[in-house]
Amino acid sequence: MKAQFSVSVMCMDLLDIRSQIETLNGCADYYHFDIMDGHFSPNLMLPPLFVKHLAPAMKLPIEAHLMVDDPGQYIDELAAAGATYISLHAETINTHAFRLISRIKSLGCKVGIALNPATPLEYIKHYLNHVDLLTIMTVDIGYSGSPFVVEMLDKIREAVRLRGENDYHYKIQVDGACNEKTFKMLTEAGAEIFVMGNTGLFKNDPDVGRAYSIMMDNFNREVR
Ligand code: MG
Repeated sequence: MKAQFSVSVMCMDLLDIRSQIETLNGCADYYHFDIMDGHFSPNLMLPPLFVKHLAPAMKLPIEAHLMVDDPGQYIDELAAAGATYISLHAETINTHAFRLISRIKSLGCKVGIALNPATPLEYIKHYLNHVDLLTIMTVDIGYSGSPFVVEMLDKIREAVRLRGENDYHYKIQVDGACNEKTFKMLTEAGAEIFVMGNTGLFKNDPDVGRAYSIMMDNFNREVR
């Protein structure tokens, strides 16, 4: 599969967001909303209301990445707001994983599951067959710019192997520290979708179109 890129909305320029969306609509693959409640994730970010207000301008599929203690209470609202993928953290859904997964499907959305660096794939093996988008966090959650956890390369390789052995259909996404220093090793391990924030995209240039071209040049130079 050709590499795809999901732009972190948390890292966009709020004062220039319409123009950034119009530019990114023409080059990126997905939009990624980090939704944090200050409990499961030690930061407050992007309520579902943001998805609702920005979605009409966004011409790419939207992923809502729920880093909250109780993701179930936001699923209906996010589906109505225009999310294509709703990603739940495995660490937050153990007591009702199957109910929430079927709720997401029943609303016509795709099922995402995200794993913190310390959570093994083994933890979600009983519902991996339902997953459309598997997100391997390569940093601890909460803040942009956190250090890359190199042990996650093994987890990506294991996700590739499990998919092959079991005919699972999920795409493998990496979230955290995706940039010119990590593109090559992440790709070689089997990552397919890269969540792009400050270090790999926005810091490249104040103009997001140029920043995106630099990102693609960096990716193509590193991954040949
Ligand atoms: Mg995220």
